[in-house]
Amino acid sequence: PSAISIRDVQKTYAGTKGEPGKHALKGVSFEVPQGGIFGLLGPNGAGKSTLINVLAGLVTKSAGSAEIWGFDIDDQRRNAKRAIGIVPQEIVFDPFFTPYEVLENQAGFYGVPKAERRSEELLAAVRLTDKRDAYARTLSGGMKRRLLIAKAMVHSPPILVLDEPTAGVDVELRRQLWELVTELNRQGVTIVLTTHYLEEAEQLCDRIAIINNGELIANKTTSEMVGMA
Ligand code: ADP
Ligand code: ADP
Repeated sequence: PSAISIRDVQKTYAGTKGEPGKHALKGVSFEVPQGGIFGLLGPNGAGKSTLINVLAGLVTKSAGSAEIWGFDIDDQRRNAKRAIGIVPQEIVFDPFFTPYEVLENQAGFYGVPKAERRSEELLAAVRLTDKRDAYARTLSGGMKRRLLIAKAMVHSPPILVLDEPTAGVDVELRRQLWELVTELNRQGVTIVLTTHYLEEAEQLCDRIAIINNGELIANKTTSEMVGMA
């Protein structure tokens, strides 16, 4: 199957105080092939986070269907969830947990048996071995972002989805995060990331879909996309 398959997904947020609802997704369809780095590019307010949140099970879609690794996100929720790791935009850690504890707790959520946990390996992969036992509140912003990526990988999902991974980060950290994403992809993880930086999509992704105002307006390989410009 495709890594992710989205069919005519719509989301209308309920309006408040007599205001009309917001059509955040107006019937979006696309397939994410296995094995690549897929970029969902669009300006703020386009509907990127809504789409990610639908896949993560945090937002209920109004219509349409979606499959993750061939599992329907409604009817086969458990399997669908196990096939995907989500790196959210916002960084939320209990400040008094350590990176090692964050990963062990997350593994616990997923019921990963102790013998199959790879917290040390994941800390090494995101270069946080020397911060293993530091309180999360003492980590730099870059370290926290790297820890979020490790946290999303504890159950070894074949797909990693990153919501605006480099929004508001400096050039050096952006380079580090790109490297990390590329490395994971080389190890066989299918990557999906949202971004509003054309440059990021071009440099990192092999396929780019453009979303604007809740509608998909393009979906091409990066070389096709760049050739058009
Ligand atoms: P993006 O991630 O591309 O910036 P979003 O998915 O966050 O876009 O938002 C798409 C549209 O839906 C925007 O107009 C936004 O204001 C609106 N929106 C997002 N979340 C909510 C919500 N919880 N309630 C109402 N409207 C929302
Ligand atoms: P449940 O559906 O079993 O209640 P939750 O959705 O509350 O599980 O998730 C438990 C923890 O795992 C939370 O910290 C949540 O943010 C995180 N989480 C859930 N799904 C994913 C995912 N696919 N990738 C990474 N973290 C996730």
